[in-house]
Amino acid sequence: MPETPLEKNTYNAQLKRSDPKFKLWHSVGLMLTYWCPAKCTCCYLFSGPDAQDARAEMSVQMALTCWRNVRKLAGHRGKVHLTGGEPFGNYQRLKEILTTAQNEGLQGLEKIETNAYWCTSKQIIRDRLEELNTLGLTVLQISTDIYHQEYIPIERVRLAVEVATEVLGPDRVQVRWRDFMEDPVDLSNKTTAQKHDAYAAELQKRPERIVGRATEELAALLPQKKWQELAQFNCKRALLGARHVHVDGFGHVFSGTCAGIILGKIDLPTFSLEDLWLSFDYQDHPVFSILAEKGPVGLIASATEAGYHPQKNYANKCHLCFDIRRYLQQCKDSSAFLGPGICYGNLTT
Ligand code: SF4
Ligand code: SF4
Repeated sequence: MPETPLEKNTYNAQLKRSDPKFKLWHSVGLMLTYWCPAKCTCCYLFSGPDAQDARAEMSVQMALTCWRNVRKLAGHRGKVHLTGGEPFGNYQRLKEILTTAQNEGLQGLEKIETNAYWCTSKQIIRDRLEELNTLGLTVLQISTDIYHQEYIPIERVRLAVEVATEVLGPDRVQVRWRDFMEDPVDLSNKTTAQKHDAYAAELQKRPERIVGRATEELAALLPQKKWQELAQFNCKRALLGARHVHVDGFGHVFSGTCAGIILGKIDLPTFSLEDLWLSFDYQDHPVFSILAEKGPVGLIASATEAGYHPQKNYANKCHLCFDIRRYLQQCKDSSAFLGPGICYGNLTT
């Protein structure tokens, strides 16, 4: 299965041979849902128990079409991972996706991610993982950190890791992060100030992308900068060079983990992920083009015209970017490029 030549993309076709190209998407994160039993402070979305929009639930057809598309675009290097929200919230759908992929001989499943909320007994974990294993599960990634464990008992994580290791073998179980699981921090019964001290210490050890819910509490715990100090950062490399996209159940396609900037919308059966990659020209995208050329500071002028008031300080360029986008997302005429509301903490759009 050969890779699609880069020149097949509309933007790339206009370039000279030596110009940097819009990269081929090799990896797709299928966001099966925005629903999650947790509400982690670090979440780059606003996932939670209240994110229950049925339109955002990814159909099996959407998942499989994107999976086939990335294999067609990137050949043997094309891969998918199944994520959320929490993908185990609808176990039946997980099974159906894997069953169909297996029946078609579709390869390239990188991993399934989970926060282990469902891992309440050895039997449940064993039953599900043995079943998924026969359906082609490759790697199970289990999240565990200071933020997740405010919502998910650490005992479930440990049980999940123990049984998954027995069923899948140690090489097919990723724990993010194992050192935390072995020496967890318990923030229950702690004051807000104590939690913030713990988050600040954690951020020194493991940086988080400051977008989504992470902007609400974590941003203020980092060293602050005025927006003018962020003027030298553009996102050309991050956006044009991204080989990884996320797709949500609505069909929105996001670059890497820049959720909420809609590169385009899949509309099956007429417009697929492959069609989007082939036709995408970042110069035509009113937000992407500015971010790529000038970075988030480039959005300030038009945002201010629309009524945005810059904050005194920001943690970094992604915080600034998200803050402006969150404002613009509520303005009319932005929904084709910024959204859905759940990426911005607005559950009603
Ligand atoms: S970070 Fe993951 S587990 Fe936490 S709320 Fe977001 S989707 Fe759920
Ligand atoms: S500044 Fe915005 S576009 Fe650039 S990497 Fe951060 S979130 Fe993505």
